[in-house]
Amino acid sequence: MESVYFLTGSRSSTLLGTDFKSVPLKNQDLIYVKARPDPLRYDGCMKQGSTSYANLIRPEWIKTLRTFIQAGFALFCLYGGYRYYLFYLWGTGQSSTYVPRPPSVEAFLPISALVGLKRLILSGHYDMIHPAGLTIFLAALCIGLLLRKGFCGWICPVGFASNLAEKTGRKLKILWKPPIWLDLPLLSLKYLLLFFFLYLIAWKMTLDQIESFHTSPYNLAVDAKMLLFFLTPSGLAAGIMLSLVAISFIIRNFWCRYLCPYGALLGLLALVSPFQIKRDQETCVDCKKCEKICPASITLTSKKTIRTGECIGCTECVSVCPVDDCLTLALPGRKKNSILLLPAAVITTFLLFYAVSLVTGHWYSEVPPEVMKKFYSIIAELPHP
Ligand code: SF4
Ligand code: SF4
Ligand code: SF4
Repeated sequence: MESVYFLTGSRSSTLLGTDFKSVPLKNQDLIYVKARPDPLRYDGCMKQGSTSYANLIRPEWIKTLRTFIQAGFALFCLYGGYRYYLFYLWGTGQSSTYVPRPPSVEAFLPISALVGLKRLILSGHYDMIHPAGLTIFLAALCIGLLLRKGFCGWICPVGFASNLAEKTGRKLKILWKPPIWLDLPLLSLKYLLLFFFLYLIAWKMTLDQIESFHTSPYNLAVDAKMLLFFLTPSGLAAGIMLSLVAISFIIRNFWCRYLCPYGALLGLLALVSPFQIKRDQETCVDCKKCEKICPASITLTSKKTIRTGECIGCTECVSVCPVDDCLTLALPGRKKNSILLLPAAVITTFLLFYAVSLVTGHWYSEVPPEVMKKFYSIIAELPHP
């Protein structure tokens, strides 16, 4: 918005239908004052006729677009899960119909992917037992480094489910925001979990141990083990899972915000991401629309640059800000970019990793289905390494 200057000598003035703050005069002299619109009257109309990128995209559009893309990935995962279940039935001898195993299920084996990454770094060998899992993990890390936590904001189906639970909780009016004294210690939990896994795998595990884990029967059937865990959970595991689901309706993004070590890792990488949300303190009218919409509950109005690892790069705050160029999606050397740039880059990067791994033979497992079937048949007896 262009700065407007006006003369004032009274308690308040009105210019072109916009109320301006009154300024007390000391000496009854005429002074020039920079106009600041009243936040209560500032309802988006100020953007009319502007050339802002944000003005071209209505707030609800970016929200709808995000929901649409997230739902697409979630449906794809559900379909993959269903196909994998059919493969599992065949592998365990419960069905005679063979259904090819969808590699995308390996996205749910992040620990195996972390082990695979260390093996790749130490030995130069790509994990060909769960290659898709490693490819998806590398794509997520790359997105985290370059595009903030765009993986969480636009792709991850668990994040989508968490958003749906939050929306339901809001409609039922049962959503509760933990006070800051509880929120801050809870926020550290996911980092503790992350450092625990990094300590065990990235720090302690030797290459010999990794190789022995890599070729172990457990690793060959770890996807089936995981499915079995969800199909026949112990009483304790079922209780924990149900509690997590129930809490997600009451506390916004409970799992993602407080417990997910995957998200914590992406958040740490995002600290060096070139994409940043910037706020112009001069033009901000403190309407707090950005804070209300922010799915990561970030207090944007206390910052000039949003660097926190909690930001999922949804760009909804930029789209909802009523002041032109007050909130922008910034890159080094370019303060204002289209808010569609980040999601477009996230999806493109992810699909690029998929396409390259497909073309170069790093997507499908080299383990023949018959060998998997052999280990699936003794799955209940396979010990944890
Ligand atoms: S925090 Fe974890 S579960 Fe949540 S969206 Fe990110 S990766 Fe997915
Ligand atoms: S700060 Fe903006 S881009 Fe980041 S999570 Fe919040 S609303 Fe989304
Ligand atoms: S930055 Fe946030 S508080 Fe400031 S004008 Fe924009 S939406 Fe309102």
